[in-house]
Amino acid sequence: MNLILLGAPGAGKGTVSKSLVEKKQMVQISTGDILRNEIKNGSSLGIQAKKYIDAGDLVPDELILGIVESRLNEDDCKNGFILDGFPRTVSQAEGLKKMLIKNSFKIRAAADISVPEEILIQRLSSRRTCSNVSCQAIYNVISKPPKTDNKCDLCGSELIQRSDETEDAIRHRLEIYTEKTAPLISFYSQTGEYVKINGNQDIDSVVNEVLNVIK
Ligand code: ADP
Ligand code: ADP
Ligand code: ZN
Repeated sequence: MNLILLGAPGAGKGTVSKSLVEKKQMVQISTGDILRNEIKNGSSLGIQAKKYIDAGDLVPDELILGIVESRLNEDDCKNGFILDGFPRTVSQAEGLKKMLIKNSFKIRAAADISVPEEILIQRLSSRRTCSNVSCQAIYNVISKPPKTDNKCDLCGSELIQRSDETEDAIRHRLEIYTEKTAPLISFYSQTGEYVKINGNQDIDSVVNEVLNVIK
């Protein structure tokens, strides 16, 4: 069982993915997490990606498609994967379609976690992320505080506000979402894979709606 999670920045894709990983033993493929890992490792991919991420722009499609293609070739994807934060452009969706055919993978649905913009801004400005890049657990100072102030419940590392989480970068990312990513709603409506999820409810209810789609 494979799933695409669509939704604006802050909609809850990462949070829902991590819950599905626990409940369904699926693997999470988060292009954002992979890119932050590459930056931390100082790889040439990371160096190229950093300037786009810090500005709140999208990383070029060719780089992203390369990352996803090699990740999909890893063995654990055969147990089912969740694409979190990919595709983000129509061109990425077209590239994905080719990769899926090539690997004989099928997608159950493109589940779009839908949340009003004013809530997205609130969530992004109160999001905190574990600074340990091999963890990247997601917290929120309002809706999901850690048990110990500013420390990750899972690994004890410090929680940080991401460097692309300034007010200007957040606003810019939401504009880019509307311009480049929202067209995927009509893309996946045409393929019959589109399902809208109400993301403006408590996290367990959002996860249950997604589980209903994939059961
Ligand atoms: P958020 O959780 O706020 O939506 P992500 O962690 O998914 O953010 O992504 C952070 C940044 O990484 C994006 O703003 C963008 O610069 C880059 N990025 C991640 N995934 C993609 C993608 N599929 N295409 C282009 N850029 C991406
Ligand atoms: P995305 O990956 O789509 O950018 P995240 O999963 O990182 O979104 O969630 C953004 C922020 O909102 C995080 O701080 C997270 O704890 C919080 N959050 C996610 N889902 C909900 C929800 N249903 N209700 C309240 N807060 C949420
Ligand atoms: Zn952690």
